[in-house]
Amino acid sequence: MTITNTETGTKAAGTDAPQVSQLIGGVWGPSDNGQWRPVENPARRTTIAYIPDSQESDVNRAVEAAAEAFKSWGVLPSRERGKLLIAIGDKIAEHQEEIARLVAAETGNALRTQARGEVASAADVFRFYGEAAFQQKGETFPFGENLLSYTVREPLGVVGGIVPWNAPVILSTMKIAMALMTGNTLVLKTAELAPLGVLKLAEYANEILPAGVLNVLTGTGQAVGNPLSRHPKVAKLTFTGSTGVGKDILAAAADRIVPVTLELGGKSPAIVFPDSDDTATAQGVIAGMRFTRQGQSCTAGSRLYLHKDIFDSFLEKLAAELGKLKIGDPLDEETDMGAIVSGKQYDTVIRYIEGAVQQGGHLVTGGIERPVEGEGYYVAPTVIAGAGDDWAVTREEVFGPVLVVIPWDDENDVIEAANDSDYGLAGYVWSKDISTAIRTANRLEVGWVQINRGGGQLPGMSYGGNKQSGLGREYSIEGALESFTNVKNITIAI
Ligand code: NAD
Repeated sequence: MTITNTETGTKAAGTDAPQVSQLIGGVWGPSDNGQWRPVENPARRTTIAYIPDSQESDVNRAVEAAAEAFKSWGVLPSRERGKLLIAIGDKIAEHQEEIARLVAAETGNALRTQARGEVASAADVFRFYGEAAFQQKGETFPFGENLLSYTVREPLGVVGGIVPWNAPVILSTMKIAMALMTGNTLVLKTAELAPLGVLKLAEYANEILPAGVLNVLTGTGQAVGNPLSRHPKVAKLTFTGSTGVGKDILAAAADRIVPVTLELGGKSPAIVFPDSDDTATAQGVIAGMRFTRQGQSCTAGSRLYLHKDIFDSFLEKLAAELGKLKIGDPLDEETDMGAIVSGKQYDTVIRYIEGAVQQGGHLVTGGIERPVEGEGYYVAPTVIAGAGDDWAVTREEVFGPVLVVIPWDDENDVIEAANDSDYGLAGYVWSKDISTAIRTANRLEVGWVQINRGGGQLPGMSYGGNKQSGLGREYSIEGALESFTNVKNITIAI
């Protein structure tokens, strides 16, 4: 695996793992305290790198660098910024394989089914926002010939971005591209479990961007994320992660009254109507559940509502399709589904499965037995039937390959059950009858519904959650402009 340039050149004592620097003000370096944290490959249980274990003083340096860079970046013509973003997209596409291998190694997500696609999407997202940069336009108002009144959309200043580990490169890219397109500068805090792909991406971006426009920090949530969210010079917070931490971020934003976007957890329903008892739908449900990312996705359709007329026959098809997935080393080309990201997350997933079985749930497929020999954190795709509506496995976000199946026979009842959740991020409807499907989609209390599709988000669509799944919509151009700019009105007497 190549981890170059960002390395300090030093191997941690007694290991082959490189020490990888962080980016502040265009310069790669260690943390002020000179401490390092290991990054593990969860499939092989080996340390693949050490990253700076940064603290508040590193955050302060990064915010100062971003504030300095903002003075010139914020006033560049938007198309000039756009051209640089497009160049970053091209560069990332050129280095797709290198970045994807790092992502696969650190997250446990399979290279072929996940990591390559994630990096390709990142390149696409940079180009998309690069091309959209000129849309940062204002309006004029018809107040008569003696007044000229117009608006401009101004950047906010230094944005603090915080990302999780499950799709680190694409989630970071969305924050980088939207913040920079609109003329802000960014301090991005990577996830401690998966910083390497993002640091590599930043290495290529930094070759193109002026110093300080993009700063990338490593370290824990407490030591880096917390001071970043509370820094007085951070003008906007954009957070993707768990609902619990999201509440802290919201409190930090409230304290200083700064705008905040929260992309949080989910427990998304997938409703299958009786006319969709087929293999294509089973494959779609598997895609929507993100089984090939070990279910570690905020939008995973992890509550499957199956009409009772097709309950057994559909489950048979689902189990057969899941049985075809090859679980193994994420860097192996044959692998469809890799490893859970960490020992802690593995234990959590196992606890949910054990808990459901102890409560009387029935394993349709999967379970706690490791599907791959060795020490890697592998969990088989697991489907649980017979779980109660109030069980933890039915209500809480497992963030693992665990799907709960619930029978239904009345349309109103299933929609009520689907909406009976603290979350409201995504939903899936499977029906050949388009009126039924749209009627159902209209009634789901979520930010994003897919009908007869289990794929991922597309650049330009609106994306964000209802209820405890988040605040704000950021992915669309309108959402990016709303989230990352202030509107100023200027009114002139002529
Ligand atoms: P997490 O909330 O534990 O951590 C997310 C990030 O926040 C990490 O970088 C972490 O270091 C940092 N952090 C932790 N405590 C902090 C604090 N007190 N102050 C500031 N930052 C802090 O989440 P995770 O386990 O890394 O990721 C999984 C979660 O992310 C799941 O709940 C998942 O649903 C959610 N997620 C949501 C979306 C979405 O678009 N809605 C996308 C991906 C993941």
